[in-house]
Amino acid sequence: SAPIVIVGAGLAGLRTAEELRRAGYEGGVVLLGDESRPPYDRPPLSKQFVRGETDDTTLRPPEFFAEKNIELRLGAAATGVDTAARTIALADGSTLAYDQLIIATGLRPRRLPGLPEVAGLHVLRAHEDAETLRAELDGAGRALIIGAGFIGCELAASFRAAGIAVSMVEPQPTPLASVLGERIGGLVARMHRDEGVDLRCGVGVDTLRADDAGHVRGALLTDGTDIDADLVVLGVGSVPVTDWLAGSGIDLAEPAAGGGVLADEVGRTSAEGVWAVGDVAAWQHDSGERKRVEHWTSAGEQAKLLVTALLGGAAPTAARVPYFWSDQYDVKIQALGTPSPTDDVTVVTDDGRKFLAYYSRDGILTAVLGAGLTGQVMKLRAKLATTTPVADLLAAAG
Ligand code: FAD
Repeated sequence: SAPIVIVGAGLAGLRTAEELRRAGYEGGVVLLGDESRPPYDRPPLSKQFVRGETDDTTLRPPEFFAEKNIELRLGAAATGVDTAARTIALADGSTLAYDQLIIATGLRPRRLPGLPEVAGLHVLRAHEDAETLRAELDGAGRALIIGAGFIGCELAASFRAAGIAVSMVEPQPTPLASVLGERIGGLVARMHRDEGVDLRCGVGVDTLRADDAGHVRGALLTDGTDIDADLVVLGVGSVPVTDWLAGSGIDLAEPAAGGGVLADEVGRTSAEGVWAVGDVAAWQHDSGERKRVEHWTSAGEQAKLLVTALLGGAAPTAARVPYFWSDQYDVKIQALGTPSPTDDVTVVTDDGRKFLAYYSRDGILTAVLGAGLTGQVMKLRAKLATTTPVADLLAAAG
């Protein structure tokens, strides 16, 4: 019979293949990736890899795939799906039959609407992007980072470590405002300024500047400031890779709602035998909302839940506490739970660099966020697995 076909050989696709074997599935598993490189880890790309501290981002050694009988097909892009015939079309013109299809195609960097493409403008998602960026760090004197999200902030830290002057511009009032809110964003801004980053918030890019050879050399900002830079990076978010699903009939989320493949709480899409996992997948959450989660830990957790459901197992009953992290300078920013920019925020410790904050909604703890306080964050996991009034936590802390 036809194999289970996983489209997208990134973290979520790989974890799904692994989970299938771990759970004892003995049928065919095809893991299809459009990149030429076997599955690799993205978090180091903006950190250790771009700084030249490591070359190894491989998630599994080559022999792993043979051992687990996972057919890894690289350089193979899926271009369409026929859910009635249960086949996918490939870029080379061939088709591949599936018994079950797993969509794990991730994200691609968002481009700024209205900004024309200029040669040399960097983005960071793929290994290749990181290689180009790393090669240009040598000899760079000044960098301009457009967008102070996670990628922008992590690159700012990596560039400073390489001794490069950094300007970072962000239209919102603080870095990470849309994820963590402005209160915590302000603490993140403070850290970058303390590290010498020329951080400009509340300002956007009007036009990119190019030299005579047409290579990007900086930008004119919306407030009239001109910034020269020999390295310019665009880090303004990502969009789900779903164009290849056009016409398939598989339900997608509205682009305004973040896009992605709509799925239930275990990854089932609107089409029979088709599942979605990882950054591309807008899973149903406990709140009833369907939204994408763009974090490393979530990809692995979803893969487990999906495979359990696909193989007919019972759903786990234990509450899941979401987690993500970001490394900037010597500080690990960590979040347990689901921080929302509109939650109430109580900063419980702040020594001018390291801090701990509670997020709450209607008085109930929704997330714990720490910077440089790993032990303290992790100790609070149990509080997020149950309903905890934030007042109780504050009282207990005295
Ligand atoms: P991806 O890793 O994007 O994999 C999708 C794969 O599918 C890609 O290889 C893509 O080329 C392939 N593909 C796309 N279309 C097709 C097609 N049509 N046919 C075949 N293949 C296709 N998370 C954290 O929690 N902490 C961090 O510190 C952190 N740092 C990060 C740093 C960087 C630079 C980046 C980019 C991400 C970071 N993340 C971090 C997020 C984390 O890496 C992602 O959540 C994770 O990679 C999601 O995995 P995925 O498999 O869903 O998507």
